[in-house]
Amino acid sequence: MADIKSLPIWLEADYQQAQQWRRSGKFHHALLLTGNQGIGQSALADALARLLLCERAAQAPCGECHSCQVALAETHPDWLTLDGRAGASIKVDAVRQLVTKVTNKPQLGYSKVVTIHDAHQMNINAANAILKALEEPPAATYFILTSNSSRALMPTILSRCQRVNLPTPSAQQVSDWLIKETNSDVSKLMWFSNTPYHLLSLVETPSYDMLQKLPDSLVSWLSGHIRVDEFVAYMNKDHVQDFVDGLLALLTSALQYSATGRCDESVRHALEALLQRYDLYRLMHFVQQLTLFKSQLDKTHLNPTIQLTGELNSW
Ligand SMILES: [Zn+2]
Repeated sequence: MADIKSLPIWLEADYQQAQQWRRSGKFHHALLLTGNQGIGQSALADALARLLLCERAAQAPCGECHSCQVALAETHPDWLTLDGRAGASIKVDAVRQLVTKVTNKPQLGYSKVVTIHDAHQMNINAANAILKALEEPPAATYFILTSNSSRALMPTILSRCQRVNLPTPSAQQVSDWLIKETNSDVSKLMWFSNTPYHLLSLVETPSYDMLQKLPDSLVSWLSGHIRVDEFVAYMNKDHVQDFVDGLLALLTSALQYSATGRCDESVRHALEALLQRYDLYRLMHFVQQLTLFKSQLDKTHLNPTIQLTGELNSW
């Protein structure tokens, strides 16, 4: 029961469905959770793993049995994980090691769970190595895969999994949940991202402050109150990507605003400042230039502050 409270409201229906499968013994041995990035695939996968590991099927997750307790502490020996999040590829060696462990009997309870976060990060060899286990899993072994890019998964993997497509939450649901989770109004950054777990990850990072200041400092620069180097000085040098993503979000929001008249109220002043100063072609050109700049960030060893200052000087 504890689990459902920590899941956001838009995942509750899918969780409850899975709970019924668990209690009635109808849980598919391979589940693939798909949906937009950052809406909680991994949080749900972890909750389902705890549900499956509980020793009392009829009340799972009871929260009291030994399996429930070690699963909550994330030290359950029968809970195996492969993690492709943060863009790391899942290597064939890691998959082979896991497949070997999967054939062992459960150490604690009655079942074993394998969670594979961002399963599309398995390369072709890794995916081939897991196929057999997915097709003919050892008894009481469950695979839970997540992906926001299921088209990147091999059809042979897809065909072996029961797919659950998670709903995209409304802006209001995201905002309510973030306020509850963080006690700070992260919803002020919804112009930057509408993916709840991405926003949650920004809290207590330097990017959080930086992005909150970005719209106002952009307006100060556009209206000539600060110079370009003073504007770029708002950028935290360890979080250049977030700063550039922030600028890109404001540019694309300005384009949308001019087309639809709709925008996030908290950044309307910045969007109007952009539209007053530049025509749409210039804004689209800036989007292209910044996207290119971003893609080259990791490849060049030049100082990003100097590069970005040079880029913005051409605006
Ligand atoms: Zn339990």
